Amino acid sequence: MFQRLLRAAAPLSLFLAATAATAQSADAPITPADMMRHIERLASDGFQGRAPGTEGERLTTAYIVEQMQARGVEPAGEGGSWFQPVAVAERQLGASTTRWLARGNSVEVAANELVLMGRDSSERIADAPVIFGGHGVRLPERGIDQLAGSDVRGAVVLILAQGPRIEGFPSLAERTRTLAEAGAAAVIAVVGADIPWPAVAATFARGTTRLDSTPLPQVVGAIPIGAAQRLVEAAGGDMTQLLNDQPGSSFRAVALPIRASLDVNTGVRRYRTNNVVGRLRGSGSTNESLLYLAHWDHFGTCRPAGEADRICNGAVDNASGIAMMLEVAGRLSRQPRPPRDILFLATTAEEVGLLGAEYFAHHPVVPAQSIVAAINMDTVAIHPAGEPVAVIGRGTPALDRVIDETVRSMNRTLDADDEAEAFVPRQDGYKLAQVGIPTVMVGGSFSNMQYLNAFLGGNYHGPADQPGGAIPLYGAAEDANLMVALGRRLADPAVYQRPAAASGE
Ligand SMILES: [Zn+2]
Repeated sequence: MFQRLLRAAAPLSLFLAATAATAQSADAPITPADMMRHIERLASDGFQGRAPGTEGERLTTAYIVEQMQARGVEPAGEGGSWFQPVAVAERQLGASTTRWLARGNSVEVAANELVLMGRDSSERIADAPVIFGGHGVRLPERGIDQLAGSDVRGAVVLILAQGPRIEGFPSLAERTRTLAEAGAAAVIAVVGADIPWPAVAATFARGTTRLDSTPLPQVVGAIPIGAAQRLVEAAGGDMTQLLNDQPGSSFRAVALPIRASLDVNTGVRRYRTNNVVGRLRGSGSTNESLLYLAHWDHFGTCRPAGEADRICNGAVDNASGIAMMLEVAGRLSRQPRPPRDILFLATTAEEVGLLGAEYFAHHPVVPAQSIVAAINMDTVAIHPAGEPVAVIGRGTPALDRVIDETVRSMNRTLDADDEAEAFVPRQDGYKLAQVGIPTVMVGGSFSNMQYLNAFLGGNYHGPADQPGGAIPLYGAAEDANLMVALGRRLADPAVYQRPAAASGE
């Protein structure tokens, strides 16, 4: 009897001791201090502002890997590594010369009325046909093909920059890509009067950064509508007439009696950067994953030599999001695992155009349809605790329901308006949503626009976004704990199923 009691007691006490130790850390809420530790490291001057393709990237991604590893997260990148390499191309305007022959007569297009950028550093297009392509839109599923019947291979194609405000109308970038794939040598966007030309020229002057895998024609560019009109008139045409003759979706591209020679120099820098991807294995074999993401990159050295503080440290934007993701990973790792796998994605090159997220969306480490939901964390430390919870990216009812229930279960209230929706296209989650992954941002940092506007109008993207007493972390910690609770539910198929309607496309 005694022995039996003793034998029973020993394992029981061991069990209690063990659970007490783990329970304390696993269930202890995430605190402001937990998050501040990461922010102080990631946004220290030593990390050099975390610019992609620099030593700052190496230090940042190494820190994220080390912290994930310490929390029991396993690598889920390429070839069993933690990394998903992303090839990026950065382009700056250089000098270009053009020659236009309309019906054999030379036509001048003023240098300040045309901006051209090459795919490679030196692009030459000689005596190419010029085509006016309308909007250059090809939507076979709606029976629209403005390029039908015309051969754009090797041609300089002029298209109207602004499309009609129709749901699903392809962006200028998408239409340019379509034309590149059809073989156009150059795509020049005709900019209408409602967009100020100096703003367009300034945008080009700032340069562009894209995934290097993005199909581009040899040359892309822009021209104000007045200059394009004069060019077409010199060839005996009238652009307004061309459009009115065959309006809207019935428009067909028109070959103009113009030949163009373009000689375009561009500063091109190609570099490789990395997403970091980790995974917590679920307790089941669902072949499904929940995905958390946060961007690790920022602007690096962002001020010219001579200025006192030259580093944009990105403490709030977005060391705070990475800090939240690491702490959420730690809690989810130590608590009993839900059935689904949980992926943690630290994206690169968000600041230059959501590029790491775009790459992942098109090269997900698991099939996109198997990702049941994604939660993005960006700029999460700008508000006090107790703020209502806003949701960016509502529209998947099954997901919205679980979010709302979870928020209420934590005695928090939901934001009553939808003003945060304006930020949907400005964050990484947008790229995942575009490939059909139900993606949201959830938290208090954008329910009261007063806090968000104060940040955007203040330290945002400047050297002052750095560690210090001014970063409010009580609201962020509260949101981090909501992220943990939400993750446990979304990673459980008994609580949440990704609706079939949101899959594919
Ligand atoms: Zn930013």
